[in-house]
Amino acid sequence: MFGWIVAAALAISAPVTAPACPGHPSAPLVSPVVAVRSGPGVHLGAIRYAQSVPLADHQLALTFDDGPDGEHTGQVLDILDRHCIKATFFLVGQEVEADPAAVRNIALRGHQIGAHSYTHPDSMAALPLAEARAEIDRSEEALQRVMQTAPPASQARLTHFFRFPAMIDSPDLLAETDRRGLASMSADYGFDDWVDDIPPDRLYDLALTLTEERKKGVILLHDYNPNMIAMLDRLLTALEARGYHFVQLTEARP
Ligand SMILES: [Zn+2]
Repeated sequence: MFGWIVAAALAISAPVTAPACPGHPSAPLVSPVVAVRSGPGVHLGAIRYAQSVPLADHQLALTFDDGPDGEHTGQVLDILDRHCIKATFFLVGQEVEADPAAVRNIALRGHQIGAHSYTHPDSMAALPLAEARAEIDRSEEALQRVMQTAPPASQARLTHFFRFPAMIDSPDLLAETDRRGLASMSADYGFDDWVDDIPPDRLYDLALTLTEERKKGVILLHDYNPNMIAMLDRLLTALEARGYHFVQLTEARP
């Protein structure tokens, strides 16, 4: 009885604010979500398409491609945890099969997962259509198989998002993702972290410059690149200090 009264009084007198991220009081404990409905005709991201995810000024959504990378994905997850940022990972099917525990860890820590082909060909548009179809099917099957024994909350992190390698699609390939009910997710910009030998300071400068030019966007990163990882914590801190907020790209469920 008395406990209830105290709790009620606290509820009335306490300021109504979302829990903050420890060490980052301007950031929330969990990234707000920007949900996208998947399905035919959903092709988003300025690198490739006319439409993009509707983000507000100073909103950024992080996406990481080509993992999981046994050595580096965990480092990225630790950095994201420190900033209480939830992201979206686009995984390569054969890497999924090589390191199922890393996939389940990504989901367990609250990140969303989409598919990024099975073998990561340079251009799926250059493949015979049957091979390209198999790239889509096998990547989806690998994720389903690896996640089928994961807790339901983790399974719910699997999206119907597909990202073409190098963002290269074709009308035939988009018809294939459309037919499967997959959203084709490009990104709005990246900062060359797919090039191996760009030093961390240069990647940091590029990322800040491009973000300040655009003021918002879905960002493309690669969790296999140690030079990107070396500057990621510093970059996130700098972006937070400049008033940027991180949101998580998720799938709207009916
Ligand atoms: Zn890729």
